[in-house]
Amino acid sequence: MVTVNSQLSLDPPEIRPLDVLAIAAHPDDVEQTCGGTLIRMAELGYRTGVLDLAAGEMGTRGTPELRLQEAGEAAAKMSLAWRGNRRFPDARIDNTIAVRMTIVADIRRLRPRVVILPYWEGRHPDHYKTAEIGYEACFLAGIRKMDPETEPHRPMKVVYSSMYANVKPSFVTDITRQFERRMEALLCYRSQYGGEASELFPEEKEIRERHAAIARFYGNLIGVKYGEPFVAKETMRVDDLMQMGVRSI
Ligand SMILES: [Zn+2]
Repeated sequence: MVTVNSQLSLDPPEIRPLDVLAIAAHPDDVEQTCGGTLIRMAELGYRTGVLDLAAGEMGTRGTPELRLQEAGEAAAKMSLAWRGNRRFPDARIDNTIAVRMTIVADIRRLRPRVVILPYWEGRHPDHYKTAEIGYEACFLAGIRKMDPETEPHRPMKVVYSSMYANVKPSFVTDITRQFERRMEALLCYRSQYGGEASELFPEEKEIRERHAAIARFYGNLIGVKYGEPFVAKETMRVDDLMQMGVRSI
């Protein structure tokens, strides 16, 4: 099991750089939006990590401690090299200087090449605040004088996970082979997805159908069974027209 580090200052300084870092508001967000892609990247040999900003203490069910434990189990399912939780106040995540600078320090320590953020619009303020904090921290982390004590680092690529955004994705990853494992990772959150079903907490079959249907929709856009959508603000480059995937007609 991956231990979720909620006191990142205790991280060993020799931590190896990550290839991909997903920054999310709550434990179980990445398991719903980009977990399949993280699993796929780990299978390709890349070092993947997740930084959750809040522990979910405003949730109706479970305790923050339980959520962190479940997040550790889900991290192992997704083969993450690292997972941390900042324990910022749930449902009140705010883009303050202190919060931004904390994430700047995390990015400098973790040194990811690609960062996945939540889409910048959404129903829950924590999600779009996380997108804004994540983007600004990625930018500021590259400014040397921001903190002369640590080495500057700016990720090469920032992409937004748009699973629930209902916008046209810039690209979709094929997670057909990773879908089941992503589902298992999500169901590690037994405090959220187990027990008595209600309007707010549907039973497992309903959860499975719902996630399969959404992933199926995005998979269909690229001609595979299951997919995860992303938006990039910049234009994607193509070097060889012969290598372009997805049939036009
Ligand atoms: Zn969330």
